[in-house]
Amino acid sequence: MTTDPFLDQIRDGVAAICSNFPGKYWQECDANRAYPEAFVQALTESGYLAALIPEEYGGSGLNLTAAATILEEIHRSGGNAAACHAQMYTMGTILRHGSDAQKAEYLPKIADGSLRLQAFGVTEPSSGTDTLSLKTTAIKDGDDYVINGQKIWTSRAEYSDLMILLARTTPRDQVEKRTDGLSVFLVDMKKAKGNGMEIRPIRTMINHATTEVFFDDLRIPANSLIGEEGKGFRYILTGMNAERILIAAECIGDAKWFIDKASAYASDREVFKNPIGKNQGIQFPIAKAYAHMLAAEAIVYRAAATYDNGQDPGAEANIAKMLAADASWEAAEACLQTHGGFGFAEEYDVERKFRETRLYQIAPISTNLILSYIAEHVLKMPRSY
Ligand SMILES: Cc1cc2nc3c(=O)[nH]c(=O)nc-3n(C[C@H](O)[C@H](O)[C@H](O)COP(=O)(O)OP(=O)(O)OC[C@H]3O[C@@H](n4cnc5c(N)ncnc54)[C@H](O)[C@@H]3O)c2cc1C
Repeated sequence: MTTDPFLDQIRDGVAAICSNFPGKYWQECDANRAYPEAFVQALTESGYLAALIPEEYGGSGLNLTAAATILEEIHRSGGNAAACHAQMYTMGTILRHGSDAQKAEYLPKIADGSLRLQAFGVTEPSSGTDTLSLKTTAIKDGDDYVINGQKIWTSRAEYSDLMILLARTTPRDQVEKRTDGLSVFLVDMKKAKGNGMEIRPIRTMINHATTEVFFDDLRIPANSLIGEEGKGFRYILTGMNAERILIAAECIGDAKWFIDKASAYASDREVFKNPIGKNQGIQFPIAKAYAHMLAAEAIVYRAAATYDNGQDPGAEANIAKMLAADASWEAAEACLQTHGGFGFAEEYDVERKFRETRLYQIAPISTNLILSYIAEHVLKMPRSY
């Protein structure tokens, strides 16, 4: 953990907000698969969700290290930032690649919470991780683009005003490079709903408000295009490093929560007239999880610092995401085992956090794909796919 006084202040501020949203709050949201509206509202009003938006657009103009600290603290406190974290990094697409008019129109409203940009439509059912084979098309027609296709796992679509959408504008066989021909759009969800866009929720093992989104001749104005037509894949890629670092910070927060919860319970719970934490069979998995968390944390904040220095954090961001997700999963397993049967009781929050942290082995990028990235881009081995 860093000892930067500014970051400590952020941690304390976020912890104070989170203290109003205890385990019971998250248990109820989870049981009802309800969007944590009050929490998202409180976080928006505090300005923390606008951490990465520059001051000239009404945000606080903080760096990625500060944003990672905010998300880590939410998870460290037992909460879950998945309901709103996308807002932090998806707005980067507008900030980096949007026109002056788009930035002036949207960023201040995203910063003050009057518009939510929570939905990010990239993944499709038939293409999965192979993003370049996505099939959703956007065809220019007069002053509009006409969208057809389907997205899956578009989280928070029902609670978002805007969606960043990746679609194909030039057929794959008509582009020189496989990464060309995809474009990014900012879709006004309120106008689109019922007019060519339909959202269907998917119930999952966690409370994630994720959905399928169907496009059937949806017309959006041509000025919804962000940046240049055909260059969208690059724009999405530049945002992915920030996303991976921020999600990795959430994993570190989860790992710390599990480790604290496990060590406290192990010291307290007496079986055979002794605290169970006296047994090395209980101690060692928790101690090992702590060591792995600490190592992962160092890489996560190194990746954030690399990003903040304007260098390419590709390798660090991917490695941080993998190590942090592994650390949180290891800590989750040690925590559940330490709690014995009580680990399964909803009131302890362990089973909920256990389910929630499992996601990070799969999303936003799976462990296998990170290993492929390291093998190919860092170790220069042949590409496997
Ligand atoms: C709860 C949830 C929320 C999500 N939110 C969003 C969102 O908001 N927006 C969005 O666009 N997407 C979202 N996703 C999608 C997520 O990014 C994908 O699920 C993830 O990238 C994996 O894609 P897939 O599910 O299609 O798996 P697949 O690509 O079908 O892969 C299945 C398995 O095969 C493995 N695999 C695939 N190819 C290879 C290979 N070449 N080598 C080795 N192993 C391989 C993968 O590692 C994985 O374990 C979300 C997913 C979930 C579950």
